[in-house]
Amino acid sequence: MANEKLTRAERLYANYKARQEEKAQQGQQKDQNFLTLVEGPTVVRFLPHWSDPEEMPYVETFVHYPGSRNIRELLGELPDNIPMSENCPRQMYQKSCPYCDFRRRLFQKGSEMYVKLAKDLFPKRRYFANVVVISPEADPADVKVFPFGVTIRDEIEARYSGDEEMDVELFDVKVGHNVRITREGTGLTTRYKFVPSTRPSKLPDKEALSKLIDLSQYTKCSDKEALQAGVNAMKAALAGSNLTDDLKSDQAGNDPDDTMPF
Ligand SMILES: [Zn+2]
Repeated sequence: MANEKLTRAERLYANYKARQEEKAQQGQQKDQNFLTLVEGPTVVRFLPHWSDPEEMPYVETFVHYPGSRNIRELLGELPDNIPMSENCPRQMYQKSCPYCDFRRRLFQKGSEMYVKLAKDLFPKRRYFANVVVISPEADPADVKVFPFGVTIRDEIEARYSGDEEMDVELFDVKVGHNVRITREGTGLTTRYKFVPSTRPSKLPDKEALSKLIDLSQYTKCSDKEALQAGVNAMKAALAGSNLTDDLKSDQAGNDPDDTMPF
């Protein structure tokens, strides 16, 4: 059996198993306090800043996803030393970023595949807020970190637009509004509906305030060596993929130090 070619069903099963493992690994890496929205409605209460109620209650990060599904599909199986995600020091702190440098080189190469890879490595905005889950029923003092993207950020900011019709307080402990966020679909077709309750309410359990999570931990960047190691691993994966065919002549050039295509 071992030498026989896999049937289509067996291959699909192998893919399925691989995805399950991938998800399990990612799940383990993730903070256990993360709130991941499942399909359907979840009612949450956004919480104030962890130490100063006048500060922004959520943090903004810019994230490269070298281990994203798109990149895996482009390059095939990626080695373990390519991280799922890395904060971008250039976008966040105006410091040099090996991933951004790598993207620039890919764009310079110009071929369709390199440009696609460069686009997939574009740093995306990701936000983190403290919340408690109101429904489905959960411990109202169990503070979760809610990661979200620009769609939900826009929904939040729209409630502070200065338009009385639209404005709703979301973060206040006494007069904030709960929000029903409904997730529809999965993957690229995922949509979110964001509907604040019509009436304000008190935070259901004040104990949550003693459990607020310092979100500044999500704004840290790996050191430059670690970032460079990830990029090097990507270059190695790229060198082993068929993407590099058009670079072979490139490599035969006069630069003996430039052993990698980039
Ligand atoms: Zn970057």
